[in-house]
Amino acid sequence: MIKAVSADKYFGDLHVLKDINLEVPRGQVVVVLGPSGSGKSTLCRAINRLEPINSGSIEVDGEPLPAEGKALAALRADVGMVFQQFNLFAHKSIVENVTLGPVKVRKISQSEARTTAMELLERVGIADQADKYPAQLSGGQQQRAAIARALAMKPKVMLFDEPTSALDPEMVQEVLDTMTSLADEGMTMVVVTHEMGFARRAAHRVIFMADGEVVEDSTPEDFFSNPKSDRAKDFLGKIL
Ligand code: ATP
Ligand code: MG
Repeated sequence: MIKAVSADKYFGDLHVLKDINLEVPRGQVVVVLGPSGSGKSTLCRAINRLEPINSGSIEVDGEPLPAEGKALAALRADVGMVFQQFNLFAHKSIVENVTLGPVKVRKISQSEARTTAMELLERVGIADQADKYPAQLSGGQQQRAAIARALAMKPKVMLFDEPTSALDPEMVQEVLDTMTSLADEGMTMVVVTHEMGFARRAAHRVIFMADGEVVEDSTPEDFFSNPKSDRAKDFLGKIL
């Protein structure tokens, strides 16, 4: 579903993604771990072309990443992304936030988009918040709205970049539960997170990045019980 071959990314002289080779099959849930600055966000952003790579290739569903135009818009629609900051449209209601993309990009009728939006809001447990504005919701509810908004585009892949890092602790679990049920339903997911419980429970695979490189690529069981590199051992020593 996602295939990166020798992908390199520089910011000026800084080499932030180094020869990334990664294949994520359909339905797989990959948790990406690594210290701050190791390139996790850049990798996510490269997958949906928020950041162009300098060499190598990244394909989503067999299609190379298009540079621009309609093809790029279509790719973005296929790759849902959820950020640390929820990035909801502040002046639109929750249900409007969820219907906007499908109506504009997927050319779905307003009434059909609304029906789907209400189903999705039901699924993430905030249907009762549909007519409120983002600022009137808790952080956890806003993040679940952001997940519903991404799902409304019927993405083939969902990328999550530290989706719970900005949340108060008591709201973390509700967002992780939403993500776990999405994983159980077979969504292909790449998740950058420091939530090790989620990694152990929901991930099929853990990728550990350091210094722009994929240093380890293993099952969660293996990674947590038997990290091979010193950098991974050091990282786990700090967070566990
Ligand atoms: P964190 O855990 O702190 O979110 P990360 O693993 O997501 O870190 P990235 O945000 O991908 O790391 O950053 C990788 C490297 O690229 C860092 O050295 C960062 O300073 C640099 N970087 C990221 N974005 C830019 C940018 N727009 N311009 C220049 N350098 C950048
Ligand atoms: Mg980051």
